[in-house]
Amino acid sequence: MMCAKNIDWSNLGFGYVKTDWRYVSNYKDGQWDDGTLTGNETIVMNECAGVLQYAQTCFEGLKAYTTSDGRIVCFRPDLNAERMIDSCERMEMPAFPKERFLEAVKKTVAANREWVPPYGSGASLYLRPYMFGSNPVIGVKPASEYQFRVFATPVGPYFKGGVRPLTVRISDFDRAAPRGTGHIKAGLNYAMSLHAIVDAHEKGFDENVYLDPGTRTYIEETGGANILFVTKDGKVVTPKSSSILPSITRRSLVQVAADYLGLTVEERPVSLSELESFAECGLCGTAAVISPVGKIVDHGKEICLPSGMEDMGPVTKKLYDTLRGIQMGTVPAPEGWIMEIE
Ligand SMILES: *Cc1c(COP(=O)(O)O)cnc(C)c1O
Repeated sequence: MMCAKNIDWSNLGFGYVKTDWRYVSNYKDGQWDDGTLTGNETIVMNECAGVLQYAQTCFEGLKAYTTSDGRIVCFRPDLNAERMIDSCERMEMPAFPKERFLEAVKKTVAANREWVPPYGSGASLYLRPYMFGSNPVIGVKPASEYQFRVFATPVGPYFKGGVRPLTVRISDFDRAAPRGTGHIKAGLNYAMSLHAIVDAHEKGFDENVYLDPGTRTYIEETGGANILFVTKDGKVVTPKSSSILPSITRRSLVQVAADYLGLTVEERPVSLSELESFAECGLCGTAAVISPVGKIVDHGKEICLPSGMEDMGPVTKKLYDTLRGIQMGTVPAPEGWIMEIE
């Protein structure tokens, strides 16, 4: 194992750490250049760049980590590539081809191999592919030049010091508009959620649960994670809506629930009034896989999940252990879920 960086992996948090190499490719005159790795972490661009004026940017997030048998792998990066193509289409940005996206991820991880935390540390190398409009744009229109990048930063274990179920609130803000951009990974979705999350934290909540912006009667997701519920009779339920971001973790967990655990899965609208009938709730995303929710607060009304404030509920735990096992190589993975880095 080549973890030459001598980092205290288990005490790393989730913050930017400059690593050695990042991938960059530029789009100009209707085409992408060949792309290259660079040691330079800074970007110089025109003051009127499309991204700076009109927020024309989208991103992805995935991890590289070391498996139990010492391989360095990524989990379903093809889905990140496809989702970024969808984001680009909605944002009038040029697609970065899937095969090239995978190549860029491989190159970035391979070049930063010494930054990939060892198996068992719980840490991983977080990868951030992103794209932005780089040439001057003052009249409102798409940029004609873009930059695609992938950088890597090591991140610590999510459940450092043990699992702590979250307390979330039903938000009075919306994160997405009906027929807006909630289903794509646009930076702008995050810019406008910042006030809501700062306000939630000030009031003692870990996250905002957003409702469907059209009727405000159905549960959508949190600022950066999809939601899974478990019913008292052991069914897995996940909200369905066109303004939810299609989480790769959630899509994988749903498949694990059905195919590995033999559970019934329902993807359907989940109304606010249904919350009291659930036994377990979890937030899913690349960062944590699943983070258990212990309490949902709806304007002073506390809905306490029977799974409690001490640990994951039993079904959430099984889902978590199985998906983590698939990622770490201790549980057989479905065909095509794991991409190895040579
Ligand atoms: C990225 C993101 C998620 C999680 O997606 P994963 O692919 O599982 O990491 C969920 N919700 C929102 C709004 C996101 O931006």
